[in-house]
Amino acid sequence: MKTYPMFIGGRAVDAGATFAVVNPALGEPFARVQDAQVQHVDAAVAAARAAFPAWSATPDAERQALLHALGAALEAHTPELMELVTRETGKPLAGLDNVGAGMELGGAIAWTHVTADLALAPEVLQDDATARVEVHRKPLGVVASITPWNWPLMIAIWHVIPALRTGNTVVLKPSEYTPVATSRFVELANAILPPGVLNLVTGAGAIGAALAGHADVDKIVFTGSTRTGKRIMEGAAATLKRLTLELGGNDAGIVLPGADVAALAPRLFGAAFHNNGQTCACLKRLYVHDSQYDAMCAALARLAIDVRVGDGMDPQTQLGPVQNRAQRDIVQALADDARACGGQVLAGGRARPGPGYFFEPTIVAGLSNGARLVDEEQFGPILPVIRYADVDDAVRLANDNPNGLGGSVWGDPALAVAVGRRLECGTVWINEHGAVQPDAPFGGIKQSGIGVEFGRHGLAEFTSIQTVKIMKA
Ligand code: ADP
Repeated sequence: MKTYPMFIGGRAVDAGATFAVVNPALGEPFARVQDAQVQHVDAAVAAARAAFPAWSATPDAERQALLHALGAALEAHTPELMELVTRETGKPLAGLDNVGAGMELGGAIAWTHVTADLALAPEVLQDDATARVEVHRKPLGVVASITPWNWPLMIAIWHVIPALRTGNTVVLKPSEYTPVATSRFVELANAILPPGVLNLVTGAGAIGAALAGHADVDKIVFTGSTRTGKRIMEGAAATLKRLTLELGGNDAGIVLPGADVAALAPRLFGAAFHNNGQTCACLKRLYVHDSQYDAMCAALARLAIDVRVGDGMDPQTQLGPVQNRAQRDIVQALADDARACGGQVLAGGRARPGPGYFFEPTIVAGLSNGARLVDEEQFGPILPVIRYADVDDAVRLANDNPNGLGGSVWGDPALAVAVGRRLECGTVWINEHGAVQPDAPFGGIKQSGIGVEFGRHGLAEFTSIQTVKIMKA
């Protein structure tokens, strides 16, 4: 079994202790990573701080070229990294609607190149006989990146590349469940970047907390649960660190009356179940008009029964296991609660016996807001389908939630846009759900987060503004 090192100041570092990373399809360890102590966090932050002056002063074109080289390294190592992603997350190599490890690598590569090409040019607000006023963007310093287990490599790229692009240095801490592909990426990156520009520490929540609370970290970019995001925000207060928080979602989808059930059902199923529902912007609550409710429930249940669940290394597999046992227990508890409060389980409903953390893809009818499965984020392969009588009601139910990441409306585009604009969420999709792109801002409102990622708006979050006023008279 291979053991992966940390990277601090450009050097591979052992912590003197390691922990196992489990393949969730088998329930068995397949790799080991370093079990960092706080002193490694201190050393990584110090290395990032030491690298900052030279990296932030590196000419823009040179930084861009280095980031494109990272993209090329990801491309050159795609099969190896895909296999690591599949083994640590459980997600299939291909997957339902091609949402799998291949997409994770493709996304990581695309985001790297697109972000490398973005720029934040200075703005000129005034230029007359009296004065010239310019607005410049400066890097913040040391950025701490803390990532989750659902899209570990792609989200690391989402954090790291814009931070580096704008001249910051980074300490990255991946999820303890899925640190392997990220470790390998950081190893590849350290053959390209100057020492200390990108550092890696591996460990559990306590190491994340030590990094997030470190006095010499200037900004935290975090993707994970709302609960942990709130803790990070508390810890950031002492030194007023900048924050980008991409937290939980409980995205609603509304199917308008008159929709084509047969055509929409597979697309809705994919939106809810790809990556086993373990994506922050998966469709998590589906509101369907009374006139088509029974037909839609039946179509979705058929798809749930027919989808191929198995080990992600098998190219035929569409859905893998739930990523970890604790998450599968949450999904089981929500399924049990749904049954207990009158929900009808139309497909699935149980963990699969045997090795690995498999759960049957599950469709639940007959619930509404107030049931745990509707109100709480399930983050797993179980979807509540909720009946509504009029569209105003559907909008009210969709907005009746503390989360506000994404939402979708399905039907005639003009009508659907008008309904979508009333949803309280950071992104609204019309006739799709969850697709993100590297040039469009993405982020949550309400308790789904603070700030946005991607594109120029996302890049700006890794900078501070400096206004320069030059008097002419
Ligand atoms: P989950 O509970 O589903 O694993 P988390 O939001 O707790 O989701 O985890 C996301 C990331 O946050 C992981 O890298 C984890 O180690 C890290 N983490 C957990 N607790 C803390 C904390 N208190 N401070 C900083 N990072 C943390």
